[in-house]
Amino acid sequence: MSAKLRLTLWFTLMVFILAAMVLVFVLVINSAAITDDPAERLVKTVLRNADDVEFDNGRFDWEELEPYRRGVYCSFYSTAGELLLAAEDPGMTELSLPFEKNIIRTVNIGGQDYFCYDSYVDMDITGIWIRGLVSSSDRSGLMHTIIVLTCTLLPALMALTLGGGWIIALDAFRPMEKILAAADSISDGGDLTARVGLKRGPTEMRRLSRAFDRMFARLELSFNAERQFASDASHELRTPITVILAECDRAKRKDKSPEDFLASIAVIEEQGKHMSELVQQLLGLTRIQHGTDRYPMRRSDLSIFVESCCGEFMPHDSRGISLETDIKPGIEADFNPALMSRVVQNLLQNAYKYGRENGHILVGLEQRGGRALLRVRDDGIGIAPEDQDKIWQRFWQADASRGEDGGSGLGLAMVKEIAEFHGGRASVDSEPGKGSTFMVEI
Ligand code: ADP
Repeated sequence: MSAKLRLTLWFTLMVFILAAMVLVFVLVINSAAITDDPAERLVKTVLRNADDVEFDNGRFDWEELEPYRRGVYCSFYSTAGELLLAAEDPGMTELSLPFEKNIIRTVNIGGQDYFCYDSYVDMDITGIWIRGLVSSSDRSGLMHTIIVLTCTLLPALMALTLGGGWIIALDAFRPMEKILAAADSISDGGDLTARVGLKRGPTEMRRLSRAFDRMFARLELSFNAERQFASDASHELRTPITVILAECDRAKRKDKSPEDFLASIAVIEEQGKHMSELVQQLLGLTRIQHGTDRYPMRRSDLSIFVESCCGEFMPHDSRGISLETDIKPGIEADFNPALMSRVVQNLLQNAYKYGRENGHILVGLEQRGGRALLRVRDDGIGIAPEDQDKIWQRFWQADASRGEDGGSGLGLAMVKEIAEFHGGRASVDSEPGKGSTFMVEI
C-alpha cells in the first residue's frame, strides 16, 4: 500500500472516529431530552396540576397551577364545561372533544398531531376538568434531526476528508517522483547533469530536492574529476612508459657493458621520477579544480609566509641566478598555506628554469586595493605575446624539451586554479628576450 493511500486512510479513519465520538457525546448529553416521552410528560404535568387544584372559600384558586410546562399546555374547566383557566395554546380551547378521563388520545389541531389527556378532580360539591395537550412530534423531531444530520453530514465529511487528503498527499508526494526520476536517470543512463530542480511544492520536499541537487552536483564533479584525471594520466604517462620499456629492452641486450646498463637505469629512474611528479601534480590540480578536497582557509600574515617560502626554496639548478625579495611587512590575508606555498614554488621554479644565466629574480608582495599582490619577476627568455594566454592551460609548454627537467606543463594551470580558489586571479606581463613578471592577486 502506498504512503499516499495509507496517509489518506488514516486521516479518514481518524475523522470517522472523531465524528462518532462527538455524536455519542452529543447523544449522551441530550439523552434526557431525547428519551423524554411527550405522552409521559403530558400525563405527569396534568396529574401534577390535578394535585395542585385548590378551592378557597368555594372559589377556584389557580395560584399554584402551571398551565404551560415543558411543551405541555393545560386548561381547566368546571364540571359544566366552563373554561376557568387556560394556557395560551395552539387552539385547544376551541377543541370540541368530549372529556374522557385518564386516557391518552390523539387529536389533530391545525394539521398537527397532539396527544390529549383529561383528568377530573372531584371536590364533593363540584369538580374540575384538566385537559392537557402536547405535540406528538415533540421528541421525534429532535431525534429525526440528529439522524438526518448523522446520515448526511458524516458521509459528506468522510468523502471530503478522503478527497482532500488524497489530493494533499498526491501533491506532497509528487516531488518524490521527480527526485526518483532524477536519481534513476543518473543511475541508469549515467546522465550526471540531471537535477531535480523543484521550484514548487511542500517546504520539506524543496529542501530535500536542494539536498539531492547538491549531492548530484558533487557526484558530477567527482565523476568528471575522475574521468579527466584518468584521461590526462593515460595520455601523459604514455611517453615516459614507452621510454622506460624501450630502455628496459636496450638494457636486456647481452652485449651491453655495465656502464650502458647503469645509463639505462638512470634513464628509467629519471622517467620514473617524472611520472611520479606528474601524477602528484595532476592529482593536486584535479582536486582543486573539481573541489573534491577540502582546503581550509586561515587568516594570517602573508608577508612572513612568502618570505619563508622564498627562504626555503631550493632550485634544481640555480645557474648563477640570484633571488631577491621586496616584501611589504604586515600584509594579512585569508589563504590556505599548502596551496600558497605551491604558488610560490611553481613561480620560482619557472623563474629559475626560464631565467637568464646569472640573472635576477625579484619576489615582491604589496597591498593593492584591499588585495594582496604577489609578483615574481625574472629577466629570462620571456613569453611570446601569442602564447601568453596559452601558458595557463594544462600541459601547454612552449618547448617541452627545454631545461634538464622538461616539466609537465601543469605548474601555471595550478597557479591559476589556486588564485581563483582564493577569489583572486593570476596574470603575466612578459616581453620575449627581456623577462616575465607573474602576478597573483588574492
Ligand atoms: P612547465 O614549466 O612544467 O613546462 P608550466 O605550466 O609551469 O609548465 O609553464 C607552462 C609554460 O609556460 C612553460 O612550458 C613555458 O613555456 C612557459 N613559462 C612559464 N614560466 C615562464 C617564465 N618565467 N618565463 C618564460 N616562459 C615561462
